[in-house]
Amino acid sequence: MRDVVSALGINGVSPGAFGRTVIPNSSGRVIRVVSPVNGEELGQVAAADDAAYERVISDATEAFREWRKVPAPERGDLVRKIAGALRDSKQKLGRLVSAEVGKILSEGEGEIQEAIDIADFAVGLSRQLYGKTMHSERRSHRMYEQWHPLGAVGVITAFNFPAAVWAWNAMIAAVCGDVVVWKPSELAPLTAVAVNSICREAAKGSGFEAVFSLVVGEGPQLGQRLAADVRIPCVSATGSCRMGRSVAKAVAERLGRCILELGGNNATIVMPDADLKLVVAGVLFGAVGTAGQRCTTIRRALVHESVVGEFIERLSAAYKQVRIGNPLEKGTLMGPLIHAQAVESFRSAVARVPLEGGEVVCGGKVLSGMPSPLYVEPTIVKAKPGMPLLQEETFAPILYVVPVKDLAEAVELNNNVPQGLSSSIFTRSMQSMETFLSAAGSDCGIANVNMGTSGAEIGGAFGGEKETGGGRESGSDSWKQYMRRQTCCINYGDDLPLAQGVVFS
Ligand code: NAD
Repeated sequence: MRDVVSALGINGVSPGAFGRTVIPNSSGRVIRVVSPVNGEELGQVAAADDAAYERVISDATEAFREWRKVPAPERGDLVRKIAGALRDSKQKLGRLVSAEVGKILSEGEGEIQEAIDIADFAVGLSRQLYGKTMHSERRSHRMYEQWHPLGAVGVITAFNFPAAVWAWNAMIAAVCGDVVVWKPSELAPLTAVAVNSICREAAKGSGFEAVFSLVVGEGPQLGQRLAADVRIPCVSATGSCRMGRSVAKAVAERLGRCILELGGNNATIVMPDADLKLVVAGVLFGAVGTAGQRCTTIRRALVHESVVGEFIERLSAAYKQVRIGNPLEKGTLMGPLIHAQAVESFRSAVARVPLEGGEVVCGGKVLSGMPSPLYVEPTIVKAKPGMPLLQEETFAPILYVVPVKDLAEAVELNNNVPQGLSSSIFTRSMQSMETFLSAAGSDCGIANVNMGTSGAEIGGAFGGEKETGGGRESGSDSWKQYMRRQTCCINYGDDLPLAQGVVFS
């Protein structure tokens, strides 16, 4: 499988092979990248030592001094070139994502498509970084607000979206005039090296190569260093709630800005009037896609008691047809979990089910005879509302099905978890749909109708409430988080009137 790495010209640890993204490393520490697909070592990446980290940050902050002066549409030109280069390498990069984190090929390529989409969006945005004008209360005065770049944006990414989530941040930040320092997951540094190389290649000769940079290393240490670094005014961190808490603390300590995209515990509600064909297709993709390792994975199905039996029956039949295996092979729908610890979390959650009063009705086993020990069965659990397991995000394909008597109970349960990322409802009733979407309905950052909770488009602002962290990334007006707002007031008259009618003479 090393061919997926060598196809991108990023094989090995030698500095030459990594081109400009290589971070020379006096400590000689490397991160071995092992594919969850079959346990093969895909490559090794040099970890950044102190000197390398310092050089990356100083190059980035130096590049910012000039980059902020480049007109935004011209900054968009660089992002357009990156979008073109990503298009050219979409298949190769998609294969690398699949090999490195175990997603099926279609999802691996979909991830790169998402990076292309957000780059296209950012190019258009580079001509639309609008500010408002306001009427001044004072005669011969004008007020308006404008947006300026912040500086270096630190981007910490999770393993499960090794390219797209970085792109949500980086493409937008770049057109906003910021520079980006990426700390990828230590579980997926090769995709980061490949994507960052593409960006630097696109910038080659412009003097702005350091707009996109990379520091690779062990998560907590390097991530904390970035979070505590006063030279990085904004840190965007994607990962577990545990990680978000410690990043938020370090950034708050220095009064910096944080964008947090943390864990989810997403529910879909199935009403008795729902189209069960749509429900089964939507829940299958939402709960089994990416082997249940999406932040937006459906973890809980809150199903009306009148259809719960049929729902479980039809969904179990669909689950049994899911082809599990090498995600790079055609026809595979589910690949492996990321590592042994994830398999252990799956095993331990399944073992707790009967102890908490639930019942495993489909799947539940770790598979033997697979290319690695990381393959598990997609699992359906008949659950009860009070089970502690329902409060947790187990990053694996386990779906808890809870019968509900009406929409009010379903919404109550939907909201009764610490996380608040995504939610959805299947119904043909306008009343149920609008109740779910109302202020007294779902409390999540994302609320979908007649589809699952995952698979967001880049055009909307993505993120969630409560322990999911409150951040918003990607489309809509998320760009404002990567800029500083400046309110300007201009007096073009001959007098100096004071606001609120204050007289001071
Ligand atoms: P993780 O928290 O283990 O790691 C995420 C990133 O944080 C990695 O780069 C890691 O090296 C770094 N890190 C870990 N501890 C840190 C610390 N103390 N300080 C600074 N950085 C630290 O998460 P993971 O296992 O890679 O990803 C799965 C988690 O990410 C799930 O909880 C999932 O829901 C969440 N996620 C959320 C979103 C979202 O948009 N809300 C998207 C993808 C994944």
